[in-house]
Amino acid sequence: MPHALLLGNAQDAGVPQAGCTCPNCRAAWASPLKRKLASALGLLSDEPGEWWLVDATPDFREQLRHMQTRAPEARLAGLLLTHAHIGHYTGLIHLGFEAMAVRGLPVYATRRMSGFLRAHAPWKQLVQQGNIVLRELAPDEWHTLTPDLSIKPVLVPHRDEWSDTVAFFVRGPSRQLLYLPDIDGWDQWGRSLTEVIAEVDVALLDGSFFSPAELPGRDLARIGHPLVTDTATRLSGQAADVRFIHLNHSNLLHHAGPEREWLKTQGLKIGEAGDEWAL
Ligand SMILES: [Zn+2]
Ligand SMILES: [Zn+2]
Ligand SMILES: [Zn+2]
Repeated sequence: MPHALLLGNAQDAGVPQAGCTCPNCRAAWASPLKRKLASALGLLSDEPGEWWLVDATPDFREQLRHMQTRAPEARLAGLLLTHAHIGHYTGLIHLGFEAMAVRGLPVYATRRMSGFLRAHAPWKQLVQQGNIVLRELAPDEWHTLTPDLSIKPVLVPHRDEWSDTVAFFVRGPSRQLLYLPDIDGWDQWGRSLTEVIAEVDVALLDGSFFSPAELPGRDLARIGHPLVTDTATRLSGQAADVRFIHLNHSNLLHHAGPEREWLKTQGLKIGEAGDEWAL
């Protein structure tokens, strides 16, 4: 039976963020146990012992190690990328000549994301030297990874400076999961959030910011992410296992407190590195 494993729950820059001394970062500088890796997902298929990494984050080293420890017999069969923001692809640097020097590792991405990697240094060196092989993914189509594991990318609205942005549906024999770390807002998406969530068993959603209280003095309209309080309200009463990921370093949900308690009353959780689901 295939499994999905959450390998981190922070926004691109992780916790602690470089140069930051906010309360969450101060706590994480003081205690390594409070450090949070950037959001990424491992997909493990025990037949034939292969796994895929969704998003190559700045914490790629630790996340690769986690999977190799969890499934030492399994082979890294490929990477899937959501978009060209630092938390989602820059871990690719570890695949090249100065580091792992892998050969022919498939990297699945949209046409625009593939074009970005092909056109710009240092990423194009990975392509030219054959460390990675780009496989273009068409949105809205199911792609088979193994007989028991398929993925479907769907476009989501986001600040698309260098690439477009996708979320991934992941389907095993018995359950379906949605991995959606970044989106500008639910109303800008051409889909109904509640209808999408009704179709899946597990949803890992953009939880970058909890509430306006976290961002004093900032124009809410320009944040570019749905607030957890808003998403939770839209999803009250749904049946799926919904967990928030991609939490900004400032997010009040990083530590125990009234915000987490409130989330629990809504029947929702935050995703934590190490969470695992049989699919
Ligand atoms: Zn991100
Ligand atoms: Zn901080
Ligand atoms: Zn992004």
